Amino acid sequence: LIAAVPSMTPPERPEAQGSVALQTQALVKTYGQQGLFGSGRVVRAAQEVDLTVRRGETLGIVGESGSGKSTVARCVMRLIDPTSGAILIDGENIASLREGQLRPHRRDIQIVFQDPYRSLNPRRTVGQSIIEGPVNFGLAVPEAKARAAELMKVVGLSSDALERFPHQFSGGQRQRICIARALAMEPAILIADEAVSALDVSVQAQVLDLLDDVRERFDLAMLFITHDLRVAAQICDRIMVMNKGEVVETGHTAQVYADPQHAYTRALLAAAP
Ligand code: ADP
Ligand code: MG
Repeated sequence: LIAAVPSMTPPERPEAQGSVALQTQALVKTYGQQGLFGSGRVVRAAQEVDLTVRRGETLGIVGESGSGKSTVARCVMRLIDPTSGAILIDGENIASLREGQLRPHRRDIQIVFQDPYRSLNPRRTVGQSIIEGPVNFGLAVPEAKARAAELMKVVGLSSDALERFPHQFSGGQRQRICIARALAMEPAILIADEAVSALDVSVQAQVLDLLDDVRERFDLAMLFITHDLRVAAQICDRIMVMNKGEVVETGHTAQVYADPQHAYTRALLAAAP
């Protein structure tokens, strides 16, 4: 179980043996226009990012605010178009697929965001929000409802939660609902982008436990994004450190924390509260 007061010493975790679910190769994202009519500022938010995540494994992306972590997540989710590079889902490059071609992959990758107060539709019951995706992908409503009820148990909520509205839940409970909604799509890959950052430390530990539990239970490849090195220490098998769009270091969590190779990583670890 993850301690309520998180330590900077990563626990021992077994080496993930699963197949590679997600890979990026030289992924680049530049915001703003370059060239003849480009007038605004150009931001190189992700520069030649290479990452690999296996089934059953959690890869952490850490770095200060603005280092490009969410940009990588948004590219991988294809919420934005990458400037260049490859994004391999189960070996297929989705970096330049168009919306129609992307559709089957939209199930495979799900994301949980930071703000549980904005990521759920306040006018829909929890049940409606959870079944929407699976029904859109062709699951019959009764089956989708049965899956939602099953997932309430998995995330530690009672099944009558399905009839209620988001405002009736605490922040931690809403994150559980967002996790259930993601799992309802039966994804191979789960991205958590600062998913516990808005929560109190004790609630944080509970949601981290849940994420680690579902990673194992569903053999997920998890991309866990956080600016918080204590949180990352608790849940990540491997860590990728980003600074100003560049990957400065990648390695096993225990290794990186005990023996950081890059000056930026050393500074980040030294500055952690
Ligand atoms: P992080 O998630 O690590 O805080 P982001 O990926 O959100 O970092 O941002 C990386 C950089 O890209 C920052 O300099 C940010 O200001 C910039 N950025 C993010 N989104 C946009 C956008 N839509 N347009 C222009 N710049 C952006
Ligand atoms: Mg971010």
